Order: sequence, then structure tokens, then C-alpha cells
Amino acid sequence: MARIVQKFGGTSVANLDRIRNVAKRVKAEVDRGNEVAVVVSAMSGVTNQLVDYVSQASPLHDTREYDAVVSSGEQVTAGLLALCLQELGVSARSWMGWQVPIRTDDAHGKARITGVEADEIAKRFKDGQVAVIAGFQGISPQGRITTLGRGGSDTTAVAIAAALGAERCDIFTDVDGVYTTDPRIVAKARKLDKITYEEMLEMASLGAKVLQTRSVELAMNMGVRVQVLSSFEDTPGTLVVDEDEIVEKQVVSGIAYSRDEAKITLMQVRDKPGVAADIFGPLAEASINVDMIVQNVSPDGGSTDLTFTVTRADLKRAVKLLEDRQAELGYRKLVHDAGVVKVSVIGVGMRSHAGVAQSMFRALAGKGINIQVISTSEIKISVLIDEQYTELALRALHTAYGLDAA
Ligand code: ASP
Ligand code: MG
Repeated sequence: MARIVQKFGGTSVANLDRIRNVAKRVKAEVDRGNEVAVVVSAMSGVTNQLVDYVSQASPLHDTREYDAVVSSGEQVTAGLLALCLQELGVSARSWMGWQVPIRTDDAHGKARITGVEADEIAKRFKDGQVAVIAGFQGISPQGRITTLGRGGSDTTAVAIAAALGAERCDIFTDVDGVYTTDPRIVAKARKLDKITYEEMLEMASLGAKVLQTRSVELAMNMGVRVQVLSSFEDTPGTLVVDEDEIVEKQVVSGIAYSRDEAKITLMQVRDKPGVAADIFGPLAEASINVDMIVQNVSPDGGSTDLTFTVTRADLKRAVKLLEDRQAELGYRKLVHDAGVVKVSVIGVGMRSHAGVAQSMFRALAGKGINIQVISTSEIKISVLIDEQYTELALRALHTAYGLDAA
């Protein structure tokens, strides 16, 4: 007998037929003799609709009421799934976040989990009861309903799995696993059997939208084994696990891309101590995240160009803020470009292999693609390129690192 957490995303519970289908999957796990907790998202499209109602009612809304409204989608699904399970003869009950309880801080709209008390749920496993838990929700120290940020029911599932000491946390979604790169762009993309937490974390934060980034962080910290799989097919998915569990480490496991980048260049910035602090300080104060940065060495010790990237949503605000300070910062000209994409190659094997960056640069050069900015970490290399070359770059890199399906 094992303890399993199953999480079903919005498309898997999009209508009653699909919820019935989910109930069958849960029953199959129960029939195998396992103790099962299920975490559900809102039916697809529902959360967006609720967010929209809130913005219409009050553009600068009270985030506590935002949470009261947008958390309701999950309540509906949890109740419906419990009913469908009962119809199949499976003992089941729904749990709202506050009933478990899943305790969070009071950062409404993007709350962090501070503790999960799952004792009552574990006790009821003994009587063969399935727990159907509304994802995405928690309760603040003030006793108000909180939500965990968009995509947050992945994080609920991992937190419940950790609290219950579950053997596995199965995340059912509309794709059948984690791929070497986006299969809609690269036809030769392959499904990975296993990927490490660290690689998954990079993939998630670099644009692969399979799991909420925070859920991967939590799984890594708590050592929860996560499986990503499809609720529409009966094939094994991708296991997200510790590095020790992966025998043959690939130098590069995956290639991610993000179009959510915009480039700003300040031309002829004075090259003296304190200038970078003067530029990036105000951006940080305005909560504008800066991602990649390059600064040239000035040939004459006088002035240099500084290039960096922000998200597309922040571009206008960043440009305005810097233009307002042109005299103070003393640059000659600002140019910006939202037509860029960040392409990243990721792999834990990079730590022990030389020449990974070199292969990337050679593959891109071979296709005549110019690299605008480069940034690296221990297990990834990212380049910023012209958006029109996204597909060409992904395909070339996928081949260059030997990832193409046979
Ligand atoms: N329903 C929430 C959302 O759409 C949470 C989730 O689905 O994970 O963001
Ligand atoms: Mg999701």
C-alpha cells in the first residue's frame, strides 16, 4: 500500500464528463489499495473569468476580496469531484484550504505556505476515505482566505504530498510529460523519462509552463517525487527527481525559450564607479526585475554602452523611469527593442563538461543568428536573439546537443 497525491489541472476538470473521468482515475488508484489525496484546480477558464469580474468591480481592488472571489473556482471542482467519486461508490469528501488547514502568510494573491496540518486527512485514510482538496487556497494568520498565485494548485499538491509523506505526487495535465523542448516548435522533441529538480526549476522559470516554479522549489526542498503526466492518456509521464536517481546525466537535458523579454540599451553611459547602482537602484525600487546585463569596457575610460533586459510588461515603465533621469544619469541615448527572445540550454551535466557554451555559439553562428546578450549559471546558458529566429535556433540547438528523436 502506498500513499499517493494526485493533482488535476483545469483542462482535466473542464466539464462534468472530464470530472467523471478523473473520478475513474482516482478510483483506480484506490482499487490498487492506495491511500489517495486529490488536489484540484478550477475548471479551465473559470479563474480567468473570476479575475476579470474582480477587475471590473474594482480596478485597484482589495486583495483580500480578490482572494475571496478567485479561490471559489476550486471549491466548485472539489465538491463536484467528491460527488462523482461517491457515485462510483468511493468514500470521499471535499476539503477547502482553510479546513485542512493549509496555513499561509498574508501576502494575498501570492501567499506562501507556512505549514500544512494534514493529520485529520491521514486519520480518515484508515477508514478508506479519499480527500479531495481545493488547490490554490490557504488561510492567513488573520483567518482570511488566501491564494497562492496563478498556477498555485501545483504547489498545494506538493505541499500536501510533503505533509502526508506521500510516495509520489502525480500532476495530471494536458501534456504527457516534460519535453526536451517545446514539441509544437521542434517536431523532434522527446519526452524525458526523468529530469532533476534543478533542471525542472530552470525550465519552469525560463518559460516552460508545465509546473508552477514555486511547486518545483518546494518539491526540491522537501524531497517530494513529482510525476508530470496526461490525464487523457495511459502512458507514464516524466519523473522530477533528485540528481542521484539519474544514472546517465545528459550534458544538456532541455532547451527553453521565453518571449517575455525586452532589451534596453543606454548608449554612452559614463564609465565610473556608482553608475550601475544609480541605474539599477530606481528600477529595483519600482519592482522592475532586470534579467540579463552586459556592460562593455570603455576603450578610452570615458563612456560605455550598457544593455539589459526586463519583462515586456515592464518595458514602458522602465523606459519612462530612465528617460526621466537622463540628465542625472548622463547617458547620451536610450534605445529599446521588444522583438527579442531568450533561448536557454539547461543541464546538470554542464557542471562537469567543458565546451557546452562553445557548441551553442557555434550552432547559432552556423545559422547566421547573432547573439545580443549572454548570461550563464552553473547549469544553464542563455542567449538573447532576434525573435524571428526563435524556431531556427531551437531546432539547431536541439540537433547540436544530440537531443533529436530518432
Ligand atoms: N485556478 C488557479 C489558476 O488558474 C490555480 C491553478 O489552476 O493552479 O491560476
Ligand atoms: Mg497549471
